[in-house]
Amino acid sequence: MDARALLRRYIEQRRELGESELVLDALNVEDVMRLLGAAGRSTSSTEPRRGVRKLAGEQSDDWRTALQEAGVMVQDATTAPSAAPNKRLAFPPEPTSSTAAAEATNEMAPGKELVAPRGIVIAANEGELIPGAIEKLDSLEAIAKQVKDCTRCSLHTTATNPVPGEGNPNADLVCVGEAPGAKEDETGRPFIGQAGQLLTKILAAIDLKREQVFICNVLKHRPPGNRNPLPEEVEACSPYLIRQLELIKPKVIVAFGTFAAQTLLNTKTPLGQLRGLVHQYHGIPLVVTYHPAALLRNPAWKRPTWEDVKLARRILDSSPRS
Ligand code: URA
Repeated sequence: MDARALLRRYIEQRRELGESELVLDALNVEDVMRLLGAAGRSTSSTEPRRGVRKLAGEQSDDWRTALQEAGVMVQDATTAPSAAPNKRLAFPPEPTSSTAAAEATNEMAPGKELVAPRGIVIAANEGELIPGAIEKLDSLEAIAKQVKDCTRCSLHTTATNPVPGEGNPNADLVCVGEAPGAKEDETGRPFIGQAGQLLTKILAAIDLKREQVFICNVLKHRPPGNRNPLPEEVEACSPYLIRQLELIKPKVIVAFGTFAAQTLLNTKTPLGQLRGLVHQYHGIPLVVTYHPAALLRNPAWKRPTWEDVKLARRILDSSPRS
């Protein structure tokens, strides 16, 4: 799909969801550059070039400069004032005057038709998904026990505790994150650090308590120093997640962050393009949103996250009672 069509589709989706703000990270930098007619690759994604005079008519090769020249306000993440600590954990975000009006017309109501296009469909018939031993685990407790003794990758050698996940075994909604962090490694519980506190608020904003849902990660052991998970670690660990989802059979899965989304949907598509769609994971609707840790760094993403979790709520409200 070309960048212009992508932008149009994205804006239509945002408008249908009652949003009026344009979240630029939904498109990749090169696409935005192309839309603005700016040539070439950015020399640096974080630092605008300073002191470089442009000749008249010359196109900018820095994306921030290109956006500014096109009349778009761009906040520099390195100089923007950081939000006050209590504000960082606030959720949902305070409505702006424009979003408040839009929100009033976009309320959730049970049985109301979903206003989100279909996304990726991950089907069940793709050969052996789970190694035999994990496939036979018949409860979440059995999975947790197996994870405790797991040596399928080397992360158990550096982690303090396994973090298999926790919550309601009959949850209607499952939250999937990336991997345990320091606090989670220390305690063996998922999402209990600062990002976890924000997750609890995100859930509360859609009328869910932590105990009502199931919370887990793609990786069940902490990668040292919170480094990104390696492909072989994901391959080794994801059978546990697949089996957890198979046993719980939730009505909706929420993938928090690029890593969970791309792993579950088996894609490299950027998060911005996966949001706002209802994907299918083995017949279960799956919604993608930002990781709470990313919201702590960038509070502007709370608004789109709010839209995403409201979409998950609408899916719950419109699915048959069990
Ligand atoms: N980040 C995650 O992705 N998972 C956790 O459990 C904690 C932080």
